[in-house]
Amino acid sequence: MWRLNLIKEISDKGKWIISSDVAIVIADKYPKAQQHFLVLPKADISSIFELTREHLPLLEELHLLASNIVEVRGLQLKDFNVGFHAEPSLERLHLHVISQDFVSSCLKKKQHWNTYNTELFVPYEVLRDKLKAENSYQRLSPDVIHALLATPLCCNQCDFKPRNLPLLKEHLEQHLQNKSGQNNCVIYTKIETAKDKINKMDAKEKNEHIKEQIIQNIRNELKKKINDKEHILIESDQAVVVKADYPKAQYHFRVVAKADIADVTKLTVDHLPLLDHMMDLAVQIMEKQDHLPSRNFRIGFKADPFWDRLNMHVISHDFYSMSMKRIKHWNSFNTELFMPFQQAYIMLSSEGAIEPISEEESEKLKLQVPLHCNQCDFESPLLLSLKAHLYTHWQRKEHERGIKKQTDSIVKLLDEVKLDDNAQPLPSAISEGQSQQEVSTENVYGPPVNMMNQANINNPFRGTPPRFGIAAAAPPQRPGNPFVNAPRHQWPGNPFARAPRPQQKVYPYGYASRPQLAGNHLGPPSRPYGIHRDNMQPRGPMPPRFSPAPANTVFASFNQQPRFAPNNPQNQRPRAPKQQQNQRPRAHNPQQNQRPRAPNPQQNQQNPPQLTYNPNQTKFRPKHKPTPAANAGQPAAK
Ligand code: AMP
Ligand code: ZN
Repeated sequence: MWRLNLIKEISDKGKWIISSDVAIVIADKYPKAQQHFLVLPKADISSIFELTREHLPLLEELHLLASNIVEVRGLQLKDFNVGFHAEPSLERLHLHVISQDFVSSCLKKKQHWNTYNTELFVPYEVLRDKLKAENSYQRLSPDVIHALLATPLCCNQCDFKPRNLPLLKEHLEQHLQNKSGQNNCVIYTKIETAKDKINKMDAKEKNEHIKEQIIQNIRNELKKKINDKEHILIESDQAVVVKADYPKAQYHFRVVAKADIADVTKLTVDHLPLLDHMMDLAVQIMEKQDHLPSRNFRIGFKADPFWDRLNMHVISHDFYSMSMKRIKHWNSFNTELFMPFQQAYIMLSSEGAIEPISEEESEKLKLQVPLHCNQCDFESPLLLSLKAHLYTHWQRKEHERGIKKQTDSIVKLLDEVKLDDNAQPLPSAISEGQSQQEVSTENVYGPPVNMMNQANINNPFRGTPPRFGIAAAAPPQRPGNPFVNAPRHQWPGNPFARAPRPQQKVYPYGYASRPQLAGNHLGPPSRPYGIHRDNMQPRGPMPPRFSPAPANTVFASFNQQPRFAPNNPQNQRPRAPKQQQNQRPRAHNPQQNQRPRAPNPQQNQQNPPQLTYNPNQTKFRPKHKPTPAANAGQPAAK
């Protein structure tokens, strides 16, 4: 049936001039002008009368192909009429793309002319707006169609009104000749534009090209960030600090160089001062995260950089993030793909350059399994189970942080009320298995985000399936294993230990110890509770205490002997008598516990002489009802 001629036509792929996923361009078999194309959807839509708002994206795609075909021919869209017939004769929706010359032997009837030059032709924009407004396109009545077909002829390029079609055709040819005459006056060399090139490509080439362009755009993203003041956390004349867009840990920043240096392998000795400067900015941003000690950050460069601009990662070592989605994400920070700052610095100063990692090596490292936990000797071939495992590290640290927070506030209050100048925090308030480094930190007050809450959108492990058995994946608690908390590179027989660790070397610019600083950068650490993890040695018998505790000393509530570090001057300070220590606020003594904490007027009356703090000092005013100290370390799991 002739109405299906167009459908038949497009079933032959040889007729397709260009196509996309959803539409095809063919030449009109009976062109009514020098250039005449039809754009048809691949979907079986018979006519404009079927269209609704839902088809707007499709319409846009048809129009896009229309402009493509015009460009492919080296012509301009403004010289074309692009639209639909109000009363189409053939099935399968089709968009006419017809040049305005209307010089063609197929233009034989007045009606032909009028279907393109009256309201019988619905420009693309008109149909689009009609659908937007009314959600459909209504058929014209037969009377209207009849009247429009009979419209007196009028030139579409001037106001000439010919008596008949042959006169119009003659006239139109004149217009065309004039135009080509004008064109002959200029030397016309068509410069092939990028778009022309794309249009000449076949579908596969086009896809590849588009992919490349998208990647290049992303690669340029960091350069743009340098000018995007809104995203800059710290800025200097040489570099900026921005938050990583897809953070791979709880804290993840980039220090981006302003100079046009593509990556770490393009650095020379002359760039050492720049590296120094970038490290200064890294230190500044770490200091802003004042509850997290600097040694909990890794600082360095991706050996296989993606971004088209030198950028240095400053990332917390929890690797606790929803954006940690692929094995390569993990490996890019936890294999040789990550080049620590010191290593880059030393390579540059001693060898003058940093060799790029080979593509082959890089691909291998990216996909390397099993994945090794960076905080203990757990390993797994599955990223998801590693994530579940990292969660347990995180959970434990939060727990410790909570306890530390509680203990610190007690200590501060004690200082405040000057109960006992010589008093020390209760060491027994730290439970077995706690990381020493965490409790020795000065500023531990993190953001009050309840990450334990599975419903909390800020919980990066929200999506970790429970079937992974977080408890089962807990880091091995091998009794007596001194390395269980030690950095991976310090384990005996660790295949990933990279010797020599540059950060342990003498460092020319004085940064050697920075990432390992205890406490924070501002001063020497205070370590009231014992040795630092980085210095951790196999723990021998408890060092002798200043004076042995009497046999009846109450440690029962914590079921543990307190730890004291050897050679820690703090622990050598004269200590309060044991009995007095045990009388300081303890979990099991709610009355005492409440005394120095809450600005409770009633309590104040009961114990007026002991309260010297100002209740208006909100710093020490509890936000919630005081909780027993023993529970304070438990993250609020509500
Ligand atoms: P319409 O009046 O909008 O339905 O227009 C149908 C268009 O299809 C006309 O411009 C015809 O010249 C064109 N046409 C008819 N048969 C074929 C065919 N087999 N292949 C390509 N175009 C065709
Ligand atoms: Zn004219």
